[in-house]
Amino acid sequence: MSVPQISVAEEAAALLREFGIAGEGGLVSRSPIDGNEIGRVTEGNPAAACAAAAAAFLEWRSVPAPRRGELVRLLGEELRASKEPLAQLVTLEAGKIVSESLGEVQEMIDICDFAVGLSRQLYGLTIASERPDHRMIEQWHPLGPVLVISAFNFPVAVWAWNAALALVCGDPVIWKPSEKTPLTAEAVMVLMRRALDRFGDAPAGLVQLVQGGREIGEALVDDPRIALVSATGSTAMGRAVAPRVAARFGRSLLELGGNNAMIVAPSADLELAARAILFSAAGTAGQRCTTLRRLIVHDSVAEPLIARVRELFATVTLGDPRDPATLIGPLIDCAAGDAMERVIGDQIECVEAVAGGHYVRPALVEVDAQGGTMLQETFAPILYAVRYTTLDEAIALNNDVTQGLSSSIFTNDLREAERFLAAAGSDCGIANVNIGPSGAEIGGAFGGEKETGGGRESGSDAWRAYMRRQTNTINYGSDLPLAQGVRFDIAP
Ligand code: NAD
Repeated sequence: MSVPQISVAEEAAALLREFGIAGEGGLVSRSPIDGNEIGRVTEGNPAAACAAAAAAFLEWRSVPAPRRGELVRLLGEELRASKEPLAQLVTLEAGKIVSESLGEVQEMIDICDFAVGLSRQLYGLTIASERPDHRMIEQWHPLGPVLVISAFNFPVAVWAWNAALALVCGDPVIWKPSEKTPLTAEAVMVLMRRALDRFGDAPAGLVQLVQGGREIGEALVDDPRIALVSATGSTAMGRAVAPRVAARFGRSLLELGGNNAMIVAPSADLELAARAILFSAAGTAGQRCTTLRRLIVHDSVAEPLIARVRELFATVTLGDPRDPATLIGPLIDCAAGDAMERVIGDQIECVEAVAGGHYVRPALVEVDAQGGTMLQETFAPILYAVRYTTLDEAIALNNDVTQGLSSSIFTNDLREAERFLAAAGSDCGIANVNIGPSGAEIGGAFGGEKETGGGRESGSDAWRAYMRRQTNTINYGSDLPLAQGVRFDIAP
């Protein structure tokens, strides 16, 4: 891709035409690049979508899982074929640089590949029974319709993490994307429909898109036909959603805010650490859930490391994310810039990159002690730096926030690395050594503890959240022995 000579609106119109999207309706999408409208969508109908998903579930749950995997394989093919235009739309609507947008679509492709293999590996257990001539097994059955609520900053990948697994697990999917990125969702649905057409006999209502804001989200969350609510967004959103789902005994999978740290120890490769800090703290304009927000640096290396990071922050290229030379694009909107300004005041440096967009230079704020706004997730490129003297102190600082998503340590000392990863080390869902906290692969389970919500999605055995477990005991003998030796004999 190269920087188009046409305007953002013109480029968006061309992409919508390419995908066959009308771009009309009452909900407006604006590009963070220049603030201009790039298309519209129509608000969805939550009750109708839930009814259609519930009906689709009755059919889809009985389709053999490897056949369900075939649908996801076709989706992966469609994504491969349209990787570039979909990534271009992500750049226009979410403001990500081209390389990150391509990476986001690649992540969708990767999870499709993973889920196809998984469709033949939804394994249960054989369990030793305490009773003679008995067998115990555990099987996994489809759960029911899954609602995916996604955030603006990963406008397409988060849906794919959920949808690819849910579909092979036998569950219909309803997607309520961020109201800030509705067009990318429409484009993904075009590709999904192409895959469904090629698949042939999938039930109507298997995969649906319901556009809208908070109220539409709430109506879906409250619907008892939704078996699992997989919600990605702020901790405030999770605080609102979780009790509503719990009130109807639904299941929720929460992927909420992070406040991620990196410890840089005396033995660390400082240049490697500095590069990881730049990507983790400033990449995606600081708008990743795994963004590095707290640098916990040993006294002995603090000065050279902080000087190097300041240099990188001062010179990193900001601008139109369509330009291949750009490393940092715009914030999502004006409110994001205001939030950053509220927190760091006149330390904010706004850059006039493209008129109408909100471009800010990453800020490094040195503090004597962890506290105040450092404890909260401001969704902007602010990196706080605090010094430490002992590893115990550093680990305590890493853990002393309410969020628990991602963390990392830079050290060449094996003992330090292992202590960081041990039970008494980082309390986060993700803990890395010699890479930053940001930029996960799909093969691992993704998610975090505490106010990050406790959910896990994507790789490893995250699929279990999308299925219901059933324990079976089968008696193939001619007696009826009871468990725990209980006797309940009747007179002969
Ligand atoms: P947000 O919370 O404002 O919105 C996220 C989604 O939730 C949107 O689709 C929104 O319409 C919906 N929503 C909001 N309130 C709702 C309610 N009461 N009921 C139902 N739906 C509701 O988040 P955002 O600004 O789009 O994204 C940024 C946040 O997302 C950050 O906090 C970031 O850390 C988090 N995030 C977390 C992960 C993760 O995997 N942990 C990934 C991406 C983003």
